[in-house]
Amino acid sequence: KNLGTVFINRLLREILSQVGHQVPLSGINIREEYAPDIPEIEGDSDQVRQVFINLVINAVQAMPGGGDLTITTGIDSEAGKCEITVTDTGNGIALENLEQIFNPFFTTKAGGTGLGLSVSYGIIRDHGGRIEVRSEPEKGSMFRVVLPVKQR
Ligand code: ADP
Ligand code: MG
Repeated sequence: KNLGTVFINRLLREILSQVGHQVPLSGINIREEYAPDIPEIEGDSDQVRQVFINLVINAVQAMPGGGDLTITTGIDSEAGKCEITVTDTGNGIALENLEQIFNPFFTTKAGGTGLGLSVSYGIIRDHGGRIEVRSEPEKGSMFRVVLPVKQR
């Protein structure tokens, strides 16, 4: 792990400005709501970038007919943590799949690897944080990542 300072708003802006090169965004309406005063995170920015690329691409892939993709950052209610949410208005996750989505190789996609979320889970845990999901079939999903801020 290559530790450094991660500026989460900047990282997310970068990802959102480039994700169109990796997945078609036709019909996707992107909203970015960044808290202006987010503290820095200590971590491996390449690894953290990979997590949010995975979440954003999953969100886009969940909305084949278009929809809203919302990314927010904020200070968590828990002291010394920040939170990032990635929300889509896509097909959602069936209840029986919800407990399996972080397992390696679990996929519901033709040609999916099923590795994005398991790798992401490991990276966030390794950074002292956590990932939670809330989802409703046919309504959409919200992935919430909580990360500790850099101690100074
Ligand atoms: P992959 O994208 O290759 O299928 P992931 O580990 O990224 O692998 O995701 C695992 C599974 O979790 C997906 O196949 C899908 O069923 C479900 N999933 C993940 N993100 C979303 C989302 N935003 N909306 C609906 N389902 C999702
Ligand atoms: Mg994926």
